[in-house]
Amino acid sequence: MVKKISHIGIAVTSLEAQIPFYRDVLGLEFAGIETVKDQKVKTAMFKVGDTRIELLEPTTDDSPIAKFLEKRGQGIHHIAYLVDDCRSALQRLEAEGVQMIDKEPRKGAFGHTIAFAHPKSTFGILTELTEEH
Ligand code: ZN
Repeated sequence: MVKKISHIGIAVTSLEAQIPFYRDVLGLEFAGIETVKDQKVKTAMFKVGDTRIELLEPTTDDSPIAKFLEKRGQGIHHIAYLVDDCRSALQRLEAEGVQMIDKEPRKGAFGHTIAFAHPKSTFGILTELTEEH
């Protein structure tokens, strides 16, 4: 079901403040910035081999990322696994008793199809299923 780690999401207060670390100090390939309106987040992507680091900056005070930063501060926000078929992966997790935040796959950044599992049923790690097109 899972092919590899798609990306690691990191919650940040400022993309601008952190981009130079990933791009210039670590020397990662910068793949661009995208705003995902329905998630109230601005993301910066960096390639690391065939996986990615995704920085997440909230665009509003009621963004899920703003709430995360308030509670836990900057740091790793979620781990995303690449799957062939987001819908069937979601159904498999639900069948195994995992509580899903998304009952249906939805559109994420960069046109990917995604679904999140609730950290309550994944031992504290917000877990994303990603189907890339
Ligand atoms: Zn993600």
